[in-house]
Amino acid sequence: MSYSIPFNKPYLTGKEAHYLYQAVLSGKISGDGIFTKKCHQFFEKNFGFKKVLLTTSCTDALELAALLLNIQPGDEVILPSYTFVSTANAFALRGAMLRFVDSRPDHPGMDEGKIEEVINEKTKAIVPVHYAGVATDMDMVNDLAAKYNLSVVEDAAQAIDAYYFGRNGKTPLGACGDIGCFSFHETKNIMAGEGGMISLNQEKYHGRAEILREKGTNRSSFFRGEVDKYSWVDIGSSFLPSDIIAAFLYAQIENLEDIQTKRKAIWNRYNSNLESLEKEGHFKRPFVPEFSSQNGHMFYIVTNSLEERTALVEFLKNKGIYSVFHYLSLHSAPYFIANHDGRSLDQSDRYTDCLLRLPLFYELELSQVDQITEVISNFFKGKS
Ligand SMILES: *Cc1c(COP(=O)(O)O)cnc(C)c1O
Repeated sequence: MSYSIPFNKPYLTGKEAHYLYQAVLSGKISGDGIFTKKCHQFFEKNFGFKKVLLTTSCTDALELAALLLNIQPGDEVILPSYTFVSTANAFALRGAMLRFVDSRPDHPGMDEGKIEEVINEKTKAIVPVHYAGVATDMDMVNDLAAKYNLSVVEDAAQAIDAYYFGRNGKTPLGACGDIGCFSFHETKNIMAGEGGMISLNQEKYHGRAEILREKGTNRSSFFRGEVDKYSWVDIGSSFLPSDIIAAFLYAQIENLEDIQTKRKAIWNRYNSNLESLEKEGHFKRPFVPEFSSQNGHMFYIVTNSLEERTALVEFLKNKGIYSVFHYLSLHSAPYFIANHDGRSLDQSDRYTDCLLRLPLFYELELSQVDQITEVISNFFKGKS
């Protein structure tokens, strides 16, 4: 079966090859070169992040976060069950016990009201995931963190150019907690094939993050001339990408506004086209709480049953449209199920069974969105 409308198509702005060539010509293509600095400056200036560092992936940004927080065996970390494995793996690698929280009934993000019941004296961190670029209620999360002296790591992999509207006004996601982790995987709004970024909102992490990212050495200080040789000063790994990756990413971020305008228009078209079918009770459209922006990362619907979702995937496929479901609840994953404390996480399981993502990429035409929603309408109206 070939699809006339794919689920995703990575968008090239046209400048990528040019910047890659420039990076190669510069003769320095290891990490923290010219383009990496340009990317850092862009994100710090345009989003107001106190400090960012490009990483090889969001997975690595999360692992770096777990190292920065000194997560140890015996510590507990709270995160949603409905998320990508990397959110969990980063802390599992440090030997932490994971405490999974259910999703909200109206949104796949973590149910903020269910966090406090799993906090205990071993808890070290809360890791909200801004699913589909929609904010978790960060005032609620930060209040709990302050009350119990916990750290907050935002998995903002899907949340570039997304915002939380809370008591401090408009704050970019990834700048609300202590640490934010972003992805530039080719399925995200702006991408470098593989790539990521960590944002460090607490000054106390700035120096050590540089060291952990550079194999536990103070090489970053050395290059700034702050020390006359660099040494092994801490644990660490290699989390910095080649400047080739940064060159590619720079071409994307220069076009961020255009990319976002297009993606949001597609999202809005889906949302208005599908309104009446939702009113008839066939499925739910994405819910965006008043405290969150919508960054055009993903458009999904939540069907009334697994059977209906399976049939709809097949129906769309027969019309050449590639739709995909998403995560499988992590609390009942083969690797973890024996460790789960037995709480039932019904909403997470509901999204596992019923959430369906529709094609959304820069080059998707609004007329194709209309075509897709027409097929969905025909499915629910029993037409072929
Ligand atoms: C994409 C994604 C990741 C992983 O990002 P990589 O850059 O591929 O490592 C982690 N968490 C969430 C929620 C994601 O969507």
